[in-house]
Amino acid sequence: MTVTEPITESRGFWIDGTWAAPSGAQRIEINNASTGAAVATVPAAERPDVDAAVAAARRAFDESDWATRGAAARAAAITSLATALLARSNETAAAVSTQNGMPISIASATEAVMPATLLNYYANLAAEQPAEERRSAFGGGTTVVRREPIGVVAAIVPWNFPQTLTFFKLAPLLAAGCTVVVKPSPETVLDSYLLAEAIAESDIPAGVINIVPGGREVGAYLVEHPGVDKVAFTGSTAAGRAIGEACGRLIRPVTLELGGKSAAIVLDDADLPSLLSQFFTATLMNNGQTCYLGTRVLAPQARYRETVDLLTDFARALNVGDALDPATQIGPLATANQQRRVQDYIAKGVADGGRVTTGGDRPDGLDAGWFVAPTIFDNVDNSHTIAREEIFGPVLAVIPYGDVDDAVAIANDSDFGLGGSVWTGDQDRGLAVARRVQTGSIGVNDYALDLHAPFGGVKASGLGRELGPEGLAAYQQVKSIFLPAKEVAPQ
Ligand code: NAD
Repeated sequence: MTVTEPITESRGFWIDGTWAAPSGAQRIEINNASTGAAVATVPAAERPDVDAAVAAARRAFDESDWATRGAAARAAAITSLATALLARSNETAAAVSTQNGMPISIASATEAVMPATLLNYYANLAAEQPAEERRSAFGGGTTVVRREPIGVVAAIVPWNFPQTLTFFKLAPLLAAGCTVVVKPSPETVLDSYLLAEAIAESDIPAGVINIVPGGREVGAYLVEHPGVDKVAFTGSTAAGRAIGEACGRLIRPVTLELGGKSAAIVLDDADLPSLLSQFFTATLMNNGQTCYLGTRVLAPQARYRETVDLLTDFARALNVGDALDPATQIGPLATANQQRRVQDYIAKGVADGGRVTTGGDRPDGLDAGWFVAPTIFDNVDNSHTIAREEIFGPVLAVIPYGDVDDAVAIANDSDFGLGGSVWTGDQDRGLAVARRVQTGSIGVNDYALDLHAPFGGVKASGLGRELGPEGLAAYQQVKSIFLPAKEVAPQ
């Protein structure tokens, strides 16, 4: 597949191990975020396509041996998918960068390789885990505690890390023995075609993975589908609330990975100039379109001006340009809508009394595409809109604090709790502060998303955890089978 030439036709949807013709005529137009040019139009799934995908996943779960063959037997098929994906890693990185503006250097380090890494990790983890354990029952006898796959999963993913976030779900659910209907975001469909090609080449049985790209309405229909046993969602808090409500009504298990407004707490002993590369990863990566970024920078009053000046110079020096250029550090936003949204937030930031020290507009010389220059605000109070709401763009608000208690209070004064970071010359001091922040994950002098550790949010940032062994447990039901101490003789 090439993403530099318009694709006007495509193969339909990957359902039940084959390319199924679309039921309707709706199409999705995909643009190059760096130029605004149309790149492809692909079919949009409608309700009958979702019905067909869920039916295929249902059959593969209920009637094939996928769920019952055991984790070790599933591992071989799962690793064959990892191999097929790696054969397409460059194309995947290019497709993602073209569509959503992710700098190619980041796409090559994440989208191109993370899916295979996750598949191999979870295939091994599940194969090493006993399917059953025997416990001494309270009051005598034995209980066999079994881990069973939860069933058919609806996996709904956003556009910002489309492949990585798909595999936060796919890798553990396949290892657990589930089957799935994936609904990619309409902004990033092309990479899901590469995924389908890889599935076709792998030993994953027909119907185990089905893919139906489409918008919100199709997503909402999939969430409530009677053939679905669990929903795994990554996206905005607004959509997560609607999905959580539907799943509550249906008593359907759900994992929600939602938005954030995390704090990057700079302590008074931090040597920030020596940590700028890590600071960039923790606050601006992927043009600010990463859910866990610390976009509220909390700086000690005594070092406030110095911190603002440092970040202003740093942001000004970042290489902003075409996402496919390997030298680019900040690419465009994913869509024209997203660009407008970020510019509206910048205007609100100014209206609330914040001051733009650099950026604030389209960068000079980049007249096409959905660019917003890296933007630093000072004079921000934690009550301002830009400190409370997720912007999802390259915009940092620098907020002053008095002492460490004040910094922790400001960090925790948020509707969200997803990521965060603490910057200090003393790791133990950083750890002590990190323990006090209400969040799902946080780093000291860096933020690394550790695939072996649970990831997720508190408060409005979500429910449940992905990654690590906890991410596998999210796709397993536990069943207890009680066995009495002595067999009862038949009457
Ligand atoms: P979005 O919520 O608009 O869409 C996400 C996905 O959900 C898309 O596939 C969309 O079509 C679908 N969708 C939207 N409304 C739906 C509904 N009511 N029912 C079913 N499906 C629905 O989010 P987005 O703009 O694509 O992504 C950006 C958001 O995702 C940001 O808020 C970001 O913080 C969040 N995000 C969270 C994490 C995390 O792990 N916590 C990771 C990445 C992105």
